[in-house]
Amino acid sequence: MVPGPTAKDIHHALRIDESRCNGCVECIKACPAKAIRVRGGVARVLPERCIDCGECFRVCPRRAIIPVTTTYMDLTRFKYKVVLPSPALYSQFGPNTMPESVLGALLELGFDHAYDKAFTCELVFSDVKKFIEENYSGDPFISPVCPAVTRLIQLMFPDLTELILPFRAPREIAAKAIKFDVHKRLGIEESEIGVIHITPCLAKLAAMANPPTEERSFLDGALGISEVYGSLLGALKDSKTEKRDQPLHRSSGAGINFGRSGGEVAALGIEASLAVSGVKETFNILKAVERGKLKDIKYLECQICPGGCIGGPLTVQNRYIASNTISSFIKLFGRKLKVEEMTDLEEYERNYFRLASKIRPQAIPALDSDTSLAIGKMRLREQIARSLPGKNCAACGAPDCKTLADDIVRGHASIEDCIFLKSGPAGGRIAELKRTRKR
Ligand code: SF4
Ligand code: SF4
Repeated sequence: MVPGPTAKDIHHALRIDESRCNGCVECIKACPAKAIRVRGGVARVLPERCIDCGECFRVCPRRAIIPVTTTYMDLTRFKYKVVLPSPALYSQFGPNTMPESVLGALLELGFDHAYDKAFTCELVFSDVKKFIEENYSGDPFISPVCPAVTRLIQLMFPDLTELILPFRAPREIAAKAIKFDVHKRLGIEESEIGVIHITPCLAKLAAMANPPTEERSFLDGALGISEVYGSLLGALKDSKTEKRDQPLHRSSGAGINFGRSGGEVAALGIEASLAVSGVKETFNILKAVERGKLKDIKYLECQICPGGCIGGPLTVQNRYIASNTISSFIKLFGRKLKVEEMTDLEEYERNYFRLASKIRPQAIPALDSDTSLAIGKMRLREQIARSLPGKNCAACGAPDCKTLADDIVRGHASIEDCIFLKSGPAGGRIAELKRTRKR
């Protein structure tokens, strides 16, 4: 196993605005990775633990958690700008606004080209199907599409990293293909081509800065759906229906269906596959895989957001309404993968799909690099945890008593942080615990 990353190696897509945060601990309670502490009355994210699920962003009542996205100013450094929207974007405007219109409206915002990522999803998954059929050996392959799930596996289910399908995510494949094509067609250097993702979540923003493998990301920036939504509505209202020689929208309903949970499984058409969405459900299913309970499943699609990307924290539409819109598009554009009708698939020949390097675990750093000291610290942690009141109130700034005990042993918190031990009848135990710690 590779050593755990240090905080400076990891970049996340959120920041805390300290002037807005009042230390209410709502985010601590929502965080599934126990990655937030309140210290000095202000929330802080522990970068080595955060999986970028965005749960904290959803619940913060004071809007103190801010996604760090690309600014329009950042885009000016590129000579040629391509926008690559998540299929979830098509579901945000209702069933009467066609994907072609949405892509056209994106051009109105100043992009030189709009690329239909839903089409790449179809393309990739026709190859994924072949890969699974040739390589299945008794354990399910896990989808590489949701970066929050990949990071969750790297951190908390390290033994499952080898089950993550060794494919690049469709957004990365599309970005790589776009740069190649634009350079070939227009002679523009790849460094001058900016590919910007329109994302439903923080996880994809973070995966750009901190890819799960040693390979760099092919994307150059990302904007949240909620950031472009207002401008897109305006552009959609003003736009004249423009007939293009080559339509921007290329995918069938199957590609658009990747915007919601079950889209990958439907595109694969492998009966022994399973789609799961939501933080708790994903945790539980990964535990089942770890215990060897999913041996009869060949492919496991997991998405951290409820309902899939249409439930992402940066979307604007109610996810049930968005799902309905996707169902309408499936009726209209069909379920059959467009790619099945095509013969000239250069992307296959260029071998863009497979990962060049392995996804590795990124375990949380051990208590000590010296094994015997680490064992001693584990014992101390258990002893401290037993002495804490077990109320899991989060008033100490940690999510629960067990985590406070861990923080104390790592030197990030003190026994006095427990308000019950400090002020209650058990106050005398602090001195005793301190003596134990010294020993
Ligand atoms: S993004 Fe998710 S894992 Fe990271 S701090 Fe927020 S709730 Fe926790
Ligand atoms: S389910 Fe989709 S929107 Fe949510 S974190 Fe994963 S990739 Fe992002």
